Amino acid sequence: KNSFEVIVVGAGSMGMSAGYYLAKRGIRTLMIDSFDPPHEQGSHHGEPRLIRHAYSGGKPYIHLALEADRLWRELEVASGQKLLVRSGVLNMADLSAGKFTNRLPDSDEAGVQVEMLDADEVHRRWPGIVLPESFEAMYEPDAGYLYSERCVAAYRTLALAEGAMLLPYNPVQHIQADGAGVRVRTRAGEFSADQLIVTAGAWFKSLEPFVSLPIRAVRKTVGWFRGEPNLYDAGVFPGFTLGTENGGYYGFPSINGAGIKIGRHDGGLPWTPGEQAAPFGHLEQDEGDLRRTLSTFLPLAGGELLKGAVCKYELTPDEQFIIDRHPLYTNVLLAGGFSGHGFKFASAVGALLADLIQHVSTTVELNTFSLSRFNQIKS
Ligand code: FAD
Repeated sequence: KNSFEVIVVGAGSMGMSAGYYLAKRGIRTLMIDSFDPPHEQGSHHGEPRLIRHAYSGGKPYIHLALEADRLWRELEVASGQKLLVRSGVLNMADLSAGKFTNRLPDSDEAGVQVEMLDADEVHRRWPGIVLPESFEAMYEPDAGYLYSERCVAAYRTLALAEGAMLLPYNPVQHIQADGAGVRVRTRAGEFSADQLIVTAGAWFKSLEPFVSLPIRAVRKTVGWFRGEPNLYDAGVFPGFTLGTENGGYYGFPSINGAGIKIGRHDGGLPWTPGEQAAPFGHLEQDEGDLRRTLSTFLPLAGGELLKGAVCKYELTPDEQFIIDRHPLYTNVLLAGGFSGHGFKFASAVGALLADLIQHVSTTVELNTFSLSRFNQIKS
């Protein structure tokens, strides 16, 4: 009874999705997690999450985002829940911080609709935003946001209904693998499988030396602020990203009075698995960076702080993902380093992992996500 076709270590955003697609395809799957997902210790809580398609990473990311979007809609139907809101997403940046025009040819070719707007036009459409003349904006009308915790919960319910098993509150303590199979130890006992998927988010370091990825985890903070309702509420205000000379930010309209959600994408305190992350407000910049950015660009959105949260990013050196086979064991798949922008892809990554387990062909350009890219000597 402790033997499976596939074990998934880490049943969060990527792992729970993978568990669902595996079980749906009739594969006997055990998912193991240290907590009881969705939970507040990893990278998927504090919903929502942006979903955009006109990605800077080029075609592989654009295609993956479109496939993910399709699968999120399927999940909505299968679960009977609203998971994706097409609020539109406005990407804004100082011309020195990035040029959106680079993304246009690939986005256009993939059929992703975008509009380029100047600072005046942005203010005309969304009077709550004030941009300096030096800023440009790219608006994606079909982009929006996902209720991330609801998504993980929906995958969980459906995965279990399809026959997957979930072992919560059981940190994996040890993994052993050879060509014939894998053995995974937790305090609930030892489990074996033909193949293994490791989707351990910010905890990859705790699985060394079995797997060693170039991933560093950081503590991230987000805040929800009271804003002028007519300007910043869901229904009238879009999701956004904002590249400034003082860092990169992203945010969401106020949903059901929760407040404008804003977070800083760059920076963050290093975090080590096992450590208690300092609560929101521990550093002046937890709230200060967000407030300063709001007061400059969304001047009527910086009212009372309604809530603050601490979350984790797991960063690779190039902030692109790792989805690959273990360098020593081809029956072990690794998916990590989602670098603070992975949630939108979780549906497609789960389905891709199931494809890789089944050795069926995929249209995903796997080279982009290969682990070996970090071995190339750069001069
Ligand atoms: P997780 O969802 O954290 O799952 C990892 C799981 O592995 C956890 O459940 C953990 O308990 C389990 N685990 C780890 N080690 C073990 C072990 N030894 N044994 C058993 N279980 C283990 N992405 C977007 O696309 N759009 C956004 O707008 C966006 N905003 C973000 C805002 C914040 C504040 C944060 C923190 C992230 C954001 N992201 C966004 C990024 C996105 O949420 C992450 O890339 C994604 O959730 C990562 O998924 P994961 O499965 O790797 O990690």
